[in-house]
Amino acid sequence: MDLDETDRRHLARAIALSREHMERNEGGPFGAVIARDGKVLAEGWNCVTSTNDPTAHAEVVAIRRACSEVGSFALEGATLYSSCEPCPMCLAAAYWARMGRIVYANTREDAMAIGFDDSIFYEEVAKPPSERLMPTIHAPSAEARAVFADWFKKADRVPY
Ligand SMILES: [Zn+2]
Repeated sequence: MDLDETDRRHLARAIALSREHMERNEGGPFGAVIARDGKVLAEGWNCVTSTNDPTAHAEVVAIRRACSEVGSFALEGATLYSSCEPCPMCLAAAYWARMGRIVYANTREDAMAIGFDDSIFYEEVAKPPSERLMPTIHAPSAEARAVFADWFKKADRVPY
């Protein structure tokens, strides 16, 4: 899919954010912009090391801000512009947010070359839980299942 001028502008802004906040030592060299219908909903940048939040990737920060801005947990029709290909966490967050599409500049291979190797996470996600490097133990629980059953029949649940 070709990019138009608006796409190029938003992606350039995401890249500018990555440089600006890297130079301020706020975190890794990653920036993101979320826009919809020509309007910027939010900007984000990596704040992992400055906030001690391992989930504060540029894309997650931007998704949180965009959702707050529009007052919804869903961003249908929006585009996530990222200075780098989203890691598995950010990709999943984009799916949870029902993002319309993603445009990125640097690749995961580019990130790996400067010390950000998330390729292992892609491999881990694809494995059965029992084979993952991080011990992941399935402990079935009747109470946990009961909570699920109650959610499913809860009259005022908000599906997402
Ligand atoms: Zn990420």
